[in-house]
Amino acid sequence: MSHAGTIIGIPGLEIERVKRSRGIEVWARPYRRPPCKHCQSPDLRIKATHKRTVKHTRQGNQVMILHLRVPKYHCQG
Ligand SMILES: [Zn+2]
Repeated sequence: MSHAGTIIGIPGLEIERVKRSRGIEVWARPYRRPPCKHCQSPDLRIKATHKRTVKHTRQGNQVMILHLRVPKYHCQG
């Protein structure tokens, strides 16, 4: 597992930025685009990107705020 994956404990995310203050804030996005859920086509175009903010607590009671950029895909197939 990568160092970034170790930070948040969620595999498959690419870390863009980390800010440490009282807690930790992490900006991340999915590492690779998945194939289409319906037809398995890898030929997906990013239609829009949604922002999600998740409060994530790791072991050790340290609260982490995770800013996720979740792409919305449009299938070409
Ligand atoms: Zn499809």
